[in-house]
Amino acid sequence: MTPMIEIDEVTKYFGTKLVLDRVSLTVNRHEVVCLIGASGSGKSTLLRCVNRLVAHDYGTIRLDGVPVDDPRFGKTGLQKRAGIVFQSYNLFPHMTVLENITLAPRRVHGVSRAEATARAQEVLARFGMDGFAQAYPEQLSGGQQQRVAIARALMTKPDVLLLDEITAALDPELVGEVLAIIRGLKDAGMTMMIVTHEMGFARDCADRVAFLSDGMILEEGPPDRIFGAPEQPRTRAFLDRII
Ligand code: ADP
Ligand code: MG
Repeated sequence: MTPMIEIDEVTKYFGTKLVLDRVSLTVNRHEVVCLIGASGSGKSTLLRCVNRLVAHDYGTIRLDGVPVDDPRFGKTGLQKRAGIVFQSYNLFPHMTVLENITLAPRRVHGVSRAEATARAQEVLARFGMDGFAQAYPEQLSGGQQQRVAIARALMTKPDVLLLDEITAALDPELVGEVLAIIRGLKDAGMTMMIVTHEMGFARDCADRVAFLSDGMILEEGPPDRIFGAPEQPRTRAFLDRII
């Protein structure tokens, strides 16, 4: 079967700085791959290349067999199929939860208000947020805001979710509720690429873990092996520092 995401020898420069160096990585359907590595190793850039918030320079990235720079995705097709969530939830403060999550479907993807609202109620309910549709972001905890941001990313029924350190800005007591949602999405079969510093979560939730260092994937494998018996000294040094 065609992999959901196929990253093949991808290279990316910012100016003259080499940020991704011939990175290859495959994510199969229903698979969860966690990216770990030090700050500046290229994790966010790799994630952003997948839905083309960042354009890579060399190599190929395919989503469900189609190169991400293929015109058939059109202007917004890729964002629809590969949803991304960031550390900072990026909710509009002057809009209600419902307005926040129905904005893109209505304005960008041409979904009717009625349909967008119905879908919004469905995803909010799934995350225990159905009572908050009319609330404003500032009335919510960080964990609740992040749940809304995840709900927003799911509005277009994406094939993959790209999660970039989505618990990094949360108070420690709120991390668990967000990770539980991600765990639930995995159990429901969602394909995900997850950048995280939560090693316990990666160990529990990832099918595979890839360790990035200086723009290269130094090693990848099942979490038990990467965490239990890393082969590369640099992976070991990173894990010793972080765990
Ligand atoms: P990570 O997410 O692993 O911390 P990033 O992908 O954010 O790493 O960054 C990798 C490298 O690329 C860093 O050296 C960073 O400074 C640089 N970088 C990231 N985004 C940009 C940008 N938009 N312009 C210039 N340099 C960038
Ligand atoms: Mg990052």
